Parts: sequence; C-alpha cells; structure tokens
Amino acid sequence: MADRYQQFTKSPVGKFVVPKLGLPNPATLRRYKPGQPALEGPALLGAAPGGRLEKVIEAQLHRAGIEVISTAADKHAALVFDATGVKDPKQLREVYDFFHPVIRSVGPSGRVVILGTPPELTEGHERIAQRALEGFVRSVGKELKRGATAQLVYVAEGAEEATESTLRFLLSSKSAFVDAQVIRVGTEAKTASAPADWAKPLDGKVALVTGASRGIGAAIAEVLGRDGAHVVALDIPAQGADLSKVANKVGGSALQLDITAADAPEKLAEYLTTRHGGVDIVVHNAGITRDKTLGNMTEGGWDSVIAVNLASQLAVNEKLLADKVLHENGRIIGVSSIAGIAGNVGQTNYATSKAGVIGMVDVGAPKLAKYEARSPAEGSSTQYGGTINAVAPGFIETKMTAAVPLFIREGGRRLSSLGQGGLPVDVAETIAWYANPASAAVNGNVVRVCGQALLGA
Ligand code: NAD
Repeated sequence: MADRYQQFTKSPVGKFVVPKLGLPNPATLRRYKPGQPALEGPALLGAAPGGRLEKVIEAQLHRAGIEVISTAADKHAALVFDATGVKDPKQLREVYDFFHPVIRSVGPSGRVVILGTPPELTEGHERIAQRALEGFVRSVGKELKRGATAQLVYVAEGAEEATESTLRFLLSSKSAFVDAQVIRVGTEAKTASAPADWAKPLDGKVALVTGASRGIGAAIAEVLGRDGAHVVALDIPAQGADLSKVANKVGGSALQLDITAADAPEKLAEYLTTRHGGVDIVVHNAGITRDKTLGNMTEGGWDSVIAVNLASQLAVNEKLLADKVLHENGRIIGVSSIAGIAGNVGQTNYATSKAGVIGMVDVGAPKLAKYEARSPAEGSSTQYGGTINAVAPGFIETKMTAAVPLFIREGGRRLSSLGQGGLPVDVAETIAWYANPASAAVNGNVVRVCGQALLGA
C-alpha cells in the first residue's frame, strides 16, 4: 500500500518529473509473505579480528536458509559484520575497511547489521569503541537508498546462541520499517529456546492484545494469529462489532472491556485463567490521544490519556504477575511512540504517557527476568524468566494519522530515511519478534518502528 505521493512517483509522469525536480522518491519496501526466501541474494559476512560471534552467526544464517559468503560479490542482499573484536578506537578502522568497498552493492530493501558488545558491559577503550558504532550505524541508515536499512545489535558475552531470532527478524522483510535501531541481547533470561517451527513460533501460546478492534491492534492480532497464537482480542464495548470481526478472522476470542475500569485487572486475570489457564503474551496496544497545547489542555484530557496509555497497563501487569497469570517465558510488550522520545507540540499528555511506557520497560525488565511462573513449561528445567520490551512507532498509516492536517502528515511521512509512513503490520511484526520464544534474551529494549524518522533522537 503506497500513499498517494508514492503512487505518483511510480506513474509515467512521476518517473519523469520526480528525478528532474529532485523530489523525494520513496522505495517500495519489501514486506513479508509466507514462503518468501529469507533474503533475495547472498549475505556477506565479515568480522574484526578476535570477534566472538562470526562462527555462531554463520551457523544461524545457514539455518535460516541464507546464502553466506565471505568474499565480496557484485550485489549483496545483506552485509553482516561482527565488530565484537573492536576493543580500541583505532580498530574502528576495521569497520570502515569492511563496509567501504561494498556499501554501494546493497540491493533494494537490503540489510546492514553490525554486532557488538554492550558498551556498558565493557570498560575503557573498548567501551568507547563499542559506543562509537552507534554513530556509524545511524549514519549508514541515512545514507542507504532503495529501502535498505542498517541496525546495531549489542550481544552480551554468553548470549551468542540467543541472537538467532533477532538476526532472522532484522534480515527479513518483517523489519521493513525498522531502521537505524540499537538492540540489546542479554544474558539474564534463562529459557531461550528455538521454536519447533520458525513459521509458527507461537504455536500453543495465548496472546492478549488490547485495542485490537482496528488499526495497529488489529494487525498485531493478525500477525500473532498467523504465527500460531490463540489471540484474545480486547477492546471497549463500543467497538464490539469490529472486535468480533478481528477475533473471528484470526480464530481467536473477543473480550469487551474498558481497561481503565477499576476492576479491569481482576476481570482480565479471571478471564485468562478460567478460559486459557493463563497467558503467554500481553500486548498493551490500546491508546488514545487528546491533543491540545498545555495551556489549553483540560484536566480530563490529561487524566484520560495517562489512564489509558499508562496507568491501566501498570495495574494489569501488577495483577498478572502477582497472581502468576503470566506463564513462564512470558512476554509483556508496550506500545510507546516516537512522541514519547522526541516530544511533540500539543501532546504533553500523550508524550508523557508514552515516555512512561519506556519507564515501565526499564523498571520491569529486571523483574521479568527473575519472574517465577506458577508452573514450569513441560520439559523445562527452570520456572523463571520473562521479558518486557516496547515498540515506539513513528508515522504509521492508520485512521489516527489520516486525521492529521495535510502538511504535517506529509512531513511525518517524508522526513525519514525511508521517506514514507509505515504500515500497521510493520509494528505487528516487531511485536511478533519480541513474542517469539527464542527472543527470551531480548529484554528491556525500546525499538522504534519509524523508518528512521528525522524527528528527535
Ligand atoms: P486506534 O485509535 O486506531 O486504535 C486504538 C484502539 O484502542 C481502539 O480500538 C480503541 O477503541 C482502543 N481503546 C482505547 N481506549 C481503550 C480502553 N480504555 N480500553 C480498551 N481499549 C481501548 O489507534 P492506532 O493508530 O491503531 O494506535 C495503536 C497504538 O499505537 C496506540 O497505543 C497509539 O498510541 C500507538 N501509536 C500509533 C501511531 C500511529 O502512527 N498510528 C504512532 C505511534 C504510536
């Protein structure tokens, strides 16, 4: 689905006019379809001397059906570089030496992935050199053309084997609108295990999605359902008809509930326990805006946004954890926003709530890593562990953004490295990566799904 300007750029007139006038020419992004090849061409894999990931990654890429080469070809679908061997700023030259000759060979919707060690887990010159990789990746993201993206994955020592779900996601077309992100794969979680079937990684799992009757929530329900989960789709009673449609489409259940009601956590815990024996994945997607500049904002406009977007989520989490409704290796996933990172005019309430979601992830991550579920999964030697992460969408094509005035809307779309808005499915695919049982070591992350929007950090 291309926006109208994008459609124009692909028309005969547009093809003639756009390059002549130097207008933006956003690429058609490759998006996931079941059965699609993992990559449309080989991945060139390189490493700085002394790297600890190259061999492990090579095996992971092979398992994902990706052709891995170590000598440059004419065209590459991906460039993957293990920079864990970079222990001094002088060795950053290794990064230049690998990428400089081949950066122009990255194909349409191609991928650049650099792997390093979390700077905070290193010291001195190594810490400086590893931190420096961020500037490199964010600039490469801005330079790449034709829908290609660049990402940095910091892998803690000991988490090498737990990187597979993240690599698969970033290299695939599922990450179409995720660009220039820094992701951490840690060692705290103890239950990372590959799914029996990578095409149905959520088989046997129960997923709660709030605000699921339309927009991004409906897309999340569809993608989690596609991946094998039984989806409990939740929305307010006024959205009942649309909610039933979504639930039926994904073979899930519909639950009409206002999550801000005082008894909502109680009702939810009871529903999930009696109907499903608990829940594996909780996606806090329900959200509202009540935009007004601060001086014009009413108390009600402030309170309702904080209640839906933040307070209700905390109350639900606390109940599901206290009553051990969340299963072992469970997932809590928040939906923040780039407004919560960069701020926005008319959105002091919304940006506060969405920055609060990031705080919820920060506080929750160590708790979830030590979470003791009621009973361990069959065959599992431990009954600990879960994760909490968030997505921070940028400009996503929904009813919410269709209502934004034209010039601001066009700015929102074009002022990004990918030069276009994202689709609800792009947010959903990122959530599905967090939800994957193999992502047990992905904890405490906030990943923007924004096509590297030029807004803010
Ligand atoms: P939307 O308005 O289309 O959908 C939100 C859903 O939440 C609606 O179905 C609504 O009925 C439901 N909801 C609201 N209050 C509720 C309550 N008290 N209890 C239960 N359900 C409730 O919005 P969307 O564009 O699909 O956004 C989904 C999420 O993504 C929101 O959290 C939003 O803040 C966030 N987001 C959206 C964008 C974007 O560009 N669209 C960008 C950044 C973040």
